[in-house]
Amino acid sequence: MAVDVTVVGGGISGLACARAAAAGGLSVRVLDRGRRVGGRLASRTLWDRPVDLGASYFVVGESASFAHVVAGWQERGLARPWTDTFVAIGADGEQQQKHGPMRWAAPHGLRSLAVDLAEGLEVRAQTTVEAVEPYRVDGEDAGEVVLAMPGPQAARLTDRAPGAELDWEPVIAVALRWDGRQWPADLRGAFVDAHPDISFIADDGDRRGDGSPVLVVHTTAQRARHHLDDPAGAIPAVVAATRDLLGIADDPAETFAHRWRFARPTAATGQPFHRAPGLSACGDAWGDRPAVRTAWESGHELGLALADS
Ligand SMILES: Cc1cc2nc3c(=O)[nH]c(=O)nc-3n(C[C@H](O)[C@H](O)[C@H](O)COP(=O)(O)OP(=O)(O)OC[C@H]3O[C@@H](n4cnc5c(N)ncnc54)[C@H](O)[C@@H]3O)c2cc1C
Repeated sequence: MAVDVTVVGGGISGLACARAAAAGGLSVRVLDRGRRVGGRLASRTLWDRPVDLGASYFVVGESASFAHVVAGWQERGLARPWTDTFVAIGADGEQQQKHGPMRWAAPHGLRSLAVDLAEGLEVRAQTTVEAVEPYRVDGEDAGEVVLAMPGPQAARLTDRAPGAELDWEPVIAVALRWDGRQWPADLRGAFVDAHPDISFIADDGDRRGDGSPVLVVHTTAQRARHHLDDPAGAIPAVVAATRDLLGIADDPAETFAHRWRFARPTAATGQPFHRAPGLSACGDAWGDRPAVRTAWESGHELGLALADS
């Protein structure tokens, strides 16, 4: 059946776009190659509980519309304010408390928020799109086509992918489980400055609220580039750095590594989205900085623009 809009990519930007377009009266279909929606809002069940392996948290920011969505999630127990305080670990190993905006987390894992946004939409998972052109997806009529994914992924589908010129950095996310918590009770997360191997440590038990002794550690892009074909190869360096920085005596009982080849763009386009007849784009490269809220706003604004036209 013909649709007004086909969104390729069921991450938070694609879902926000689809919702806004559908709320504006358009018929919308979302296609995603993954088994489930969410993209980089990624929670995987490890050791009998969901672990956030993509985004660590989100910030609400200035947008009243996103704040409204987040308030709905909070009311239904899907999201909760986590912390405004992380530790910053300097090059000399010195630790300092760093206050910032409130970071929000999801008790069931951040992917649950994407699942919530997908509610009521026509979403086709496990559908890998091979080629797009204005008004067409894989040779079929598709209405307005929206590419809601990192530019390099979009560039595989068309030689006129908006935003394809931006560089993206990889990250390997490594989940580490100990049998008991071995780090300070007030350590919720840590920015690691100027380290060759790791850039951020999150206490997954703390953010999810179940207290499980699980950390998720993000590598630097430099470390990730060595292990793109074998993400598990990053685990020994990540374990050594984490133990060293947090003073943990033992090796973890279990580990898991996930590769993000396109984790974040190194620059932003500076525009909220790309709109052209038949082929538009949204995502976290469209906005001021790559983040969950940016991706949502980009998709939402594009959906409104599509409904308006
Ligand atoms: C390790 C890591 C840590 C992060 N930490 C934070 C954080 O703490 N706070 C924060 O705000 N943000 C963070 N981010 C960024 C945040 O996750 C992203 O900004 C946001 O999730 C991007 O959403 P998106 O919809 O733009 O893209 P994506 O989530 O990447 O969605 C793109 C979708 O397109 C699909 N797709 C791709 N190609 C095809 C195809 N050919 N056919 C069909 N489907 C396709 C993919 O399966 C995917 O679902 C982090 C990201 C990573 C990777």
